[in-house]
Amino acid sequence: MIRPDSQVLIDIRDLHACVEDQLILNGVNLTIRAGEIHALMGRNGSGKSTLSKVLAGHPAYTVTKGSVLFLGEDLLALDPEQRARIGVFLGFQYPVEIPGVSNLEFLRVSTNARRLQQGQEELDTFAFEDLVRGRLDVVQMDPAFLDRSVNQGFSGGEKKRNEILQMALLEPVVAILDETDSGLDIDALRIVASGVNQLANADNTTLLITHYQRLLDLIKPDYVHVMDAGRIVRSGGKDLALELEQHGYEWLDRDLANQELA
Ligand code: ADP
Ligand code: MG
Repeated sequence: MIRPDSQVLIDIRDLHACVEDQLILNGVNLTIRAGEIHALMGRNGSGKSTLSKVLAGHPAYTVTKGSVLFLGEDLLALDPEQRARIGVFLGFQYPVEIPGVSNLEFLRVSTNARRLQQGQEELDTFAFEDLVRGRLDVVQMDPAFLDRSVNQGFSGGEKKRNEILQMALLEPVVAILDETDSGLDIDALRIVASGVNQLANADNTTLLITHYQRLLDLIKPDYVHVMDAGRIVRSGGKDLALELEQHGYEWLDRDLANQELA
């Protein structure tokens, strides 16, 4: 829901970042307010995942220029754990498996870190089990997945549902979901989308990185942005995604070139 006066949650200005001396982000500008859902699209290799990792604080990426404010504070000054604690959540394109670490314990430790930050008490195993069982419904997940190692042997769809479960527990302010729809069958896609919709509210925001309209049919974005060569080259409403679906990125290239000539 767009309310132009609502609070700015994240403000990205002229963000440049490189990996191994190669410039990947080349001047990203993006302002996201509370209550909005944004979709980020763009060709493979345009820098979408890099942007999400830079926001989450991945150590492989170096910011060379620009700024990111989170609720007015310098996000880039914080380490990745601090960013997670204050409510920046990244749902990975390829969630990692962590053999030997119980999913329940992993979820409990991360949830408690976030709760402490929010001034809430830590939950012991029993109290946490009650909480997590209530949240399993958000993604229609079988409790048996809590007793397994984190993501180990989970199918693609189960991994993505586990990411959304984590999100349901952490209650992030800014949730960045990188190709959460990739590798999902139709039922899993519906479940994941419904989970994201249930968690969206007037105080938080979701940034969906996706290639596909089928996800945006289920999670309606307020804004759609297209990234190319490390910057956002076009922003619009949900119709922009429909136009891309219909005409492809070459249409956008031509349109942008014509604009430059005019
Ligand atoms: P997208 O998510 O839009 O497909 P990425 O952000 O993953 O794009 O990648 C953008 C570019 O940055 C690609 O050319 C990719 O090869 C390069 N890149 C990203 N991460 C690394 C890395 N760790 N090492 C080397 N190159 C990288
Ligand atoms: Mg990517």
